[in-house]
Amino acid sequence: MVKIALYGAGNLGKYVLSELEKQNLYEPIIFIDNFVSGQSWSRRGLKIVNLEIFKKEWEAECDAVIICAENKINKQSMTLSLLPWFNKDIFLPSEHILSAKLPLFNEKGDFCTYVKKYTEEKPILSYVEHDLTKFCNLKCKNCGHRSDEVKSIIKSDRKVFIQSLEGLRKIFSNIYQIRLMGGEPFVLDDLDWYVDTARGFFEESEIDIVTNGLLIPNVNEEILLAIKKNNINVQISQYPPTRKMIEKIVYKLEQAGVKYQISSPILKFMERRENYEYVNKIESIYRNCPNYHCHTMSDGRLFGCGIIKELIERDGDKVNNKLLLENSIDLINPKISGWDALILLERANTLCGYCFEEQNWVNWESLNKNYNLYYKQ
Ligand code: SF4
Ligand code: SF4
Repeated sequence: MVKIALYGAGNLGKYVLSELEKQNLYEPIIFIDNFVSGQSWSRRGLKIVNLEIFKKEWEAECDAVIICAENKINKQSMTLSLLPWFNKDIFLPSEHILSAKLPLFNEKGDFCTYVKKYTEEKPILSYVEHDLTKFCNLKCKNCGHRSDEVKSIIKSDRKVFIQSLEGLRKIFSNIYQIRLMGGEPFVLDDLDWYVDTARGFFEESEIDIVTNGLLIPNVNEEILLAIKKNNINVQISQYPPTRKMIEKIVYKLEQAGVKYQISSPILKFMERRENYEYVNKIESIYRNCPNYHCHTMSDGRLFGCGIIKELIERDGDKVNNKLLLENSIDLINPKISGWDALILLERANTLCGYCFEEQNWVNWESLNKNYNLYYKQ
């Protein structure tokens, strides 16, 4: 008999248990549930334990886990919570099993095709951002992307952009949110090409352009047309100069029928750390990190966050380049699965030791007084 743990003791877990009880190849031995602090008893006589107790006391005698979650994101995060240490089979039944009362087993006694091993499904990436250029007209002091130091417009390489999106498509089934940012995306006179290309690869994703908004009143109509046609949101960061001309910005976007959001006024910035000495506290730095989910696509690789990339560019000689490669994923020729990519991305890594240990907030300030100028190529 294959000994099974059911991860999720809610209605779906109970339904899967009742299906398992109809056959004699798989023996359910335990429920795992994240909402129990220690252990209690389920109605059908199986213990319910939390993940920690399962790992300590039950993992060795269990042959496989069935994830009993009714939505994809919960299913994925429960699978990820097992993956670093549970090296046996993990099964993911379809989310429709409970509502449609689908059988778990076919007539031969095998799992039906809608009960898949996790390795047969690609995971979803929740978020990725990409700098279309590092150049920015506003040059905020302490810019987290270091755009205050960039003197000329260098665009994201088109070929690498396409290859990177292809790489993401290969290892993930979807991306919930893609943010095209910079620098200032509206300095690009071919922003429409990037927008069309990103949408071509990811039809269902939310795609946003992040902007200071200052160039929008004079932007080329074709660019706005492409933004509208591709159902892209324009996310305006409301810096003090943006606020001064917000009416013109909104008017232009509304005339073009483009969706937009406006942030609260931005008056403070987090001070940039300039001295990258390694601090041996990576877990606590990561736990307090506001950017831990900011997965970044850059130079054909996928990074846990963009800050890592920035600090390497700034002070590369102090940070071992090997560490950078070990802690990011090659998108041009991806050699790992989406699951392994998520394990790598969504954890503290050695590079966090070079990051912000404390956050210090300072007043916002721009280093460019002519920020309204449209920078031609
Ligand atoms: S608007 Fe400011 S914070 Fe945003 S990219 Fe430009 S310089 Fe950086
Ligand atoms: S390097 Fe680590 S601590 Fe720093 S921003 Fe990235 S995830 Fe956060």
